[in-house]
Amino acid sequence: ESSRLAGQFALVTGASSGIGAAVAKTLAAQGAAVVVNYIGNPDAADAVVQEIAAAGGTALAIMADVSKEDQVQAMFKQAVAHFGTLHIVVANAGIQVDSGFVDMTLAQWQKVIDVNLTGQFLCLREGAREFIRRGPQPEVSKALGKLLCMSSVHEVIPWAGHVNYATSKGGIMQLMKSAAQELAPQKIRVNAIGPGAIKTPINHDAWATPEAEAKLLTLIPYNRVGVPEDIGQLAAWLVSDEADYITGQTIFMDGGMTLYPGFATGG
Ligand code: NAD
Repeated sequence: ESSRLAGQFALVTGASSGIGAAVAKTLAAQGAAVVVNYIGNPDAADAVVQEIAAAGGTALAIMADVSKEDQVQAMFKQAVAHFGTLHIVVANAGIQVDSGFVDMTLAQWQKVIDVNLTGQFLCLREGAREFIRRGPQPEVSKALGKLLCMSSVHEVIPWAGHVNYATSKGGIMQLMKSAAQELAPQKIRVNAIGPGAIKTPINHDAWATPEAEAKLLTLIPYNRVGVPEDIGQLAAWLVSDEADYITGQTIFMDGGMTLYPGFATGG
């Protein structure tokens, strides 16, 4: 694998499964040492760390609930104590708590906003603070640091039955763009990835049976459900110097899901 992230330290939230695990493994394969953040299951996080180590990389698992300020700050403190600094933060952790609009409780709304939106804010802020504290290392990275949000096609596509989730992703867009505008003079790049349908535990029911997958594919012009490795490759490129002039952008990686496939026949 390439070593375009050699000498860099990365933190990926929600990295014990799905997209986060693939992003952590890809960053490590390209030379970064990686913090594998997780909540709940240490065995799954350890498995990701072991897989990275077996491939010749370096990783450290750290437990933290990204929606809790004290836990996020403790995680960044531990990461910097262990590695010395960070150059890359991928705010990936996210959840769905689905409910029809009129039945959605405040607790269901608040939980998703807390994890998906406030959690990304806290991790971006702690990342930016660390980049500024450390100062430039142009031999390692052109940018002072790179912040990457895991958004969704639901940043722009409304989603009935998931108003808390879609709102959190729409919010991530302005979190990302406003932070990008504010931090660009300090040479901190902030971007987002907007995945379409990717095979992970979060949407297992949508692709687990042939019938479900066929229905899902009607929304995907490219006619393939994505895999976490698709997103891992894009993430590694976006935080590399090859993408040094990109900031404030959401890159959709969705097989065309945002192309209004319902209009493909001309209507
Ligand atoms: P996933 O369920 O495998 O991953 C989510 C991860 O976040 C899990 O590891 C979970 O333990 C972790 N997490 C949940 N709450 C947390 C908290 N409070 N603190 C720390 N970690 C927490 O599903 P995924 O598909 O890999 O999701 C990753 C991201 O990608 C999410 O932000 C999701 O919204 C986004 N996304 C996924 C898809 C898809 O099709 N799979 C599409 C668009 C966007």
